[in-house]
Amino acid sequence: MKILVINCGSSSLKYQLFDMADESVLAKGLVERIGIDGSRLKHTRTGQEAVLVEQPIPDHKVAVSLVLKALLDKQHGAIKSLDELGAVGHRVVHAGEKFSCSVRLDDAVMAALKECIPLAPLHNPANIIGIEAISASLPNVPQVGVFDTAFHQTMPDYAYMYAVPYGYYKDAKVRRYGFHGTSHLFVSHRAAEILGKPIQDLKIVTCHLGNGSSVTAVKNGKSVDTSMGFTPVAGLVMGTRCGDVDPSVVTYIAAKEGAEKADKILNKESGLQGISGKSSDMRDIEEGMKAGDARCTLAYNMLCYGIRKYIGAYAAAMGGIDVLVFTAGIGENSPEVRASVAEGLEFLGIKVDAAKNDFRGKERIISPEGAPVTVMVVPTNEELVIARDTLRIISGR
Ligand code: AMP
Repeated sequence: MKILVINCGSSSLKYQLFDMADESVLAKGLVERIGIDGSRLKHTRTGQEAVLVEQPIPDHKVAVSLVLKALLDKQHGAIKSLDELGAVGHRVVHAGEKFSCSVRLDDAVMAALKECIPLAPLHNPANIIGIEAISASLPNVPQVGVFDTAFHQTMPDYAYMYAVPYGYYKDAKVRRYGFHGTSHLFVSHRAAEILGKPIQDLKIVTCHLGNGSSVTAVKNGKSVDTSMGFTPVAGLVMGTRCGDVDPSVVTYIAAKEGAEKADKILNKESGLQGISGKSSDMRDIEEGMKAGDARCTLAYNMLCYGIRKYIGAYAAAMGGIDVLVFTAGIGENSPEVRASVAEGLEFLGIKVDAAKNDFRGKERIISPEGAPVTVMVVPTNEELVIARDTLRIISGR
């Protein structure tokens, strides 16, 4: 069966077409700048050069029709007829407390997702528009929602509650939700597979370090704590998000700048960008640090120190740690960050072998043979998780 995976942002749409017989990717692409000048589609059929379609793309409906046209294209496409599409799986950011696993999308689920819009005002509307655009073009194809928050629904209440008046949880659903769930799920399961041990027997800390970053404690296969919170702005220092700050910093900045500007500052102008004053991109930060830039060095040190603190905290939360996993853009590609994070964690049994760590972007164990904690790099594959879940759900498994 062929499954199309869709990930809609407010002005973008990423897609991958899988052949689930062997889980191969037949084609993938990205529609950018939807509703903005300069919109375009970049489409790649596996094994071919990418093709670029530049034309006005006023909304997600037009974007979806362009994607389907590209998939059907005689030269660059990957299917002969839309009937070949068995299902569509969507990444959906926020399901609140409503769903703890992926679900088939129907009217009731869509209504529940709309209720979650106040919890994710930037992300959920785009995801919903994407689902509705597919429904309009492919009314008979089953669709499945895979939620960023779902994997973390197993956290115990003392880990997800904030100590604010209880009514804010009961009535307004203010609590820790956590994000990047499909990634933490994928890499923790893959880590257990690589070790050849049942995930039920393992205490794993997964570090998803990208433009957005989060750390998760996975005990016996379940998320028991995670660094992102009510929104993805909490936790680690990120590309442009501030991560954990004293809540009074927020009210202080909001009193000075207004609530809307404060939100923008903490989400879009903070993190590596805010500290370095140069860039939100870790490659630039590392380059700046090597050139002796003090603020790039500070940004780098703040990120690595934060990750180290979370690893220690989650080892304590789980009563130990067997496996430490690095993934996503920085985790997969920065040997420097991996080494810096591990430095000083020897007391937990965490050690990185410099020679084994000297690579980018592959699956590999980087701790010395026989070390108490297995440290590894596992490239994440959120699209594959979505495709697998979609297949499982529409097959009734
Ligand atoms: P993601 O959000 O997973 O795509 O990750 C994006 C982040 O990964 C950006 O901060 C990039 O700078 C970072 N990244 C990608 N390649 C490298 C690299 N070779 N070294 C350091 N950071 C990298």
